[in-house]
Amino acid sequence: MKRIIVAIDGHSSCGKSTMAKELAREVGYVYVDTGAMYRAVTLFALDNGLFTEDGEVAVETLNHRMNEVQVGFVLDTETNLPLVTLNGIIVEDRIRGMAVSEKVSLIAALPFVREAMTKQQQLMGKEKGLVMDGRDIGTVVFPKAELKIFVTASPEVRAERRFKELKAKNMTVDFNEILANVKERDYIDSHRETAPLRQAPDALLLDNSQLTREEQRRWLLEQFHKVAD
Ligand code: C5P
Repeated sequence: MKRIIVAIDGHSSCGKSTMAKELAREVGYVYVDTGAMYRAVTLFALDNGLFTEDGEVAVETLNHRMNEVQVGFVLDTETNLPLVTLNGIIVEDRIRGMAVSEKVSLIAALPFVREAMTKQQQLMGKEKGLVMDGRDIGTVVFPKAELKIFVTASPEVRAERRFKELKAKNMTVDFNEILANVKERDYIDSHRETAPLRQAPDALLLDNSQLTREEQRRWLLEQFHKVAD
């Protein structure tokens, strides 16, 4: 079996991470959630007051301070899954809240932020044997990835899933707020100038609105073996 790179891109909250994680576990690959990296940079900006009063990013200051932002991963020994760190501290829970979700697409649209994250992501793929999910993995980070998947589902289905996920973590959430956030992130992610969210021409499209997690898992595994065996 060859070692390949699996690039999973798609809209917000469509279950990319879940399917990417499961595949990585089943085939013994490393899993990288690139959204978590952009979320960690956003947390840095929030913690350091790098948003103006009207909610815009203080771009110049963030650019100057990017050398203070170290994003990494450590392995959770219980689940064997990576946990994102910001300057050496695990921030996995803090990056999932609405405060970060509301600002992350603004941060992710900045070319200097993307450049730094993309470089780091490309290093992680040097040895292949990697499942990476995000928005620009098959188009920009690994345009030569052997298997590319583009995942989507209706905004309502995605907001419902996110709502349940956050509720399960006992977070206070409002469905309409989540739906608005999902739609807003889709818009910003698809319309930004640098590395906009789009399906790579050679990516397989998966609309999982009507699929169970198990059906999705089997479909992805089948695509993996078609390429890797
Ligand atoms: O995947 P997740 O929803 O956690 O990603 C959070 C945000 O990070 C996205 O809405 C998008 O703005 C940004 N992102 C990106 N490029 C990636 C991964 C995420 O721009 N490769």
